[in-house]
Formats: sequence, C-alpha cells, structure tokens
Amino acid sequence: MRILFALTTALFFMISTHARAEITRVEFVMGSGKERMILFSHEALAHKRMFFLDTPDRLVIDFPATNARPLALPEDYSGRFIRQMRFGKFNPSLTRIVLDLNQQVTVLGSYAVPPSGEIREWQYVVDLAAAQGGSASAIVTPKTAAPPPIASKPKPKPLIVIDAGHGGQDPGAIGASKTLEKNVTLAYAKALRKALLKTGRYRVALTREDDRFIMLGERVDIARKLSADLFISLHADSNPRRDARGFSVYSLSETASDAESAALAEQENSVDFLGGMEEIKVEDPEVADILIDLTQRETMTKSSEFAEVIVASMHPKVRQLAKTHRYAGFRVLKAPDIPSVLIEIGFLSNPEDERLLASPEFRDLVISSLVGAIDKYLGIEE
Ligand code: ZN
Repeated sequence: MRILFALTTALFFMISTHARAEITRVEFVMGSGKERMILFSHEALAHKRMFFLDTPDRLVIDFPATNARPLALPEDYSGRFIRQMRFGKFNPSLTRIVLDLNQQVTVLGSYAVPPSGEIREWQYVVDLAAAQGGSASAIVTPKTAAPPPIASKPKPKPLIVIDAGHGGQDPGAIGASKTLEKNVTLAYAKALRKALLKTGRYRVALTREDDRFIMLGERVDIARKLSADLFISLHADSNPRRDARGFSVYSLSETASDAESAALAEQENSVDFLGGMEEIKVEDPEVADILIDLTQRETMTKSSEFAEVIVASMHPKVRQLAKTHRYAGFRVLKAPDIPSVLIEIGFLSNPEDERLLASPEFRDLVISSLVGAIDKYLGIEE
C-alpha cells in the first residue's frame, strides 16, 4: 500500500513538474449516462486543482499550462451536461477551464494517458456522470493509467447516397447552349457531398465520381449494399413544354401523380438501353406491377415525407415547378428499405433554367437548402 502510494505520488509529481504544457485541442466521447472530456497536449498534463461552483453549476479545472490559443466546446459536442466551455489564463502559471453545466454532475475519474500507438499526444481524460442528488465532488488525483472503456460505441453517422443522374454514353438532357445533364448532376452531387461532409454530421457516398454509365438497378444496389439512410438522385431533364421551369422533387408511388410525371419516369427508366446491353429486362413503368410489401409501403411514406421537407426547406429564391412534389414510378427510387427521392433541379429544356444550372450562386442556394432539409428530416438541428 505504501509502495503504491509512493509510486502514485512519484508519477503525479513527474506529471505536475511539466509546467509548460500547452493544451492543443479538446474532444468529447459520449457513453450511456457518461461524458468523457479529452484534452490533448504534447507534454504530460494533469490538473492542479479541480472543484465545483454552484448557482450556476460549474466545474473548474486549473492546469499548470500555458495556452495562447483559446479552446471552446467543440461544434459537434452532442452531450447534455455542458452548456459552454470557457478557457483562459488564470495567472501566469495557471490555465483555467470552466465548464458551465446544464445540470449537476460528478467526476467519476481523471486520467493522464501517455502517447501510444496512433495517438502521439498525451491525453488528459475527465469522466463525468449525472450527479445523484447534491453536487458530489469525488475529485481525485489523476491516475497515470488508461481510463476504463466508456460504455457505448459512437453511433455511426447517417449515410447519404447521392446519385448523379446519367453518365458515360448517356448524356441525359442537352440544353440549347449544349449543357449536358450528366455534367450538371455530377457537379451538384459533388457540391452536396462537400456541404454535407462539412457539417460533420454525415457520411456520404456517390454512385459515380466521374463520367461513366451506370445501370439504374446498380445505382439502387450501391445504396442498399452500403445500408444508406437516404438516397437522393439528381437530375435536370428536359420537359416537352419549353416554358416549364423550376425545381421539383419526385417520390415513388403506385400511380403517377400526373401524365407529365409518368412520361418523365418512363423516359428516365429507358436510359438502361443506352448501356449497350442486348437483353435488358425492362420493368413496367407502372409501379402497380411491382410487388409492394409492407416495408416498401413504409419506405414510400418516408420518401414522400422527405420530399415534403425538401419542398418546405427550399430557399424562396429557388423557383419551384407547380405541384413541386410529384409521384411516379422511377426505377431508381425502388430500394424497398431506403427513403429515396429524385430531384429535378431544373429543366435543361428551358434556357433560363439552363443558365441558372450553370451558376455557382444558384447551386449554393439549392445545396444549402438540401442540407437544411436533410438536417430537418433526420432530426438533426443546427
Ligand atoms: Zn435525368
């Protein structure tokens, strides 16, 4: 016991003598009912003092560290204990972190973890749990040890599969100024991927990254193999009415909402012929022929709800086609278990839409509206 005590003291002394440590970043890991704060430093790091203050509840941690750069609560913090993280130089030799708390918490333990494996920095770990009545403050000397595993694996981020319509020998619609639909859809797919990844909330996969032909069924298979949470197919087709213009969104249904949508779906479903395949089993564009089981029915309802959220989230400056949300039997929307929508960003058959589809400003409006719609549909608030 005495030896253990001496050893612990020696380790702590060793840690605390590194007075010039700088905290480089902070991360949080969520467990069930627990939250772990991890501070990273190139030097060994341990707190000098840790204490609670009440009204309002705060946890104060002082470090013998020098920090020029301030740290704040990470934008992707998804816990519920901490409202705000403040950071500053308390005096020339002490750096203070103040955690403004939403509720009373207890410190389960704190640990100084040396660099190991891929992690080249020291970690200073504090485990927090909700306090069971009263402000418990079991504040302990940090142990130089690996902290116990925190309960849960982080939940994987939702995966969005973006499908750039057409490609390869299938150019899709061609505008009066020779804009090719396949290029518009790829540019939008890449821009949407970039914007979604930037939020830090999603994983994203594209059905194609370059100018290549992909069968419609294959596009659906890619989403299914990856267990996508959402499937978004992007298009900018032509409309027989040259004055028809504006944004529209389609979800699958047993019967098309109107003749125009039915014709569009029929035209889209025929692109597999352009793949140069001799024998293609063409599905009847009338979706009534497909076996619609309960899962598919539920997915169709979800797809329809997602389409409604997209319409409601669209920036007012993005002109919408009348009856913006339409229904038809698009082959590419038939994943039975993934909510799927097909978006006609505009019509290349309309010269004004063709001009807008090439405009980066217009694209930004559409993309940010789509990110907002995905956030809203998946229940992730800004
Ligand atoms: Zn198309």
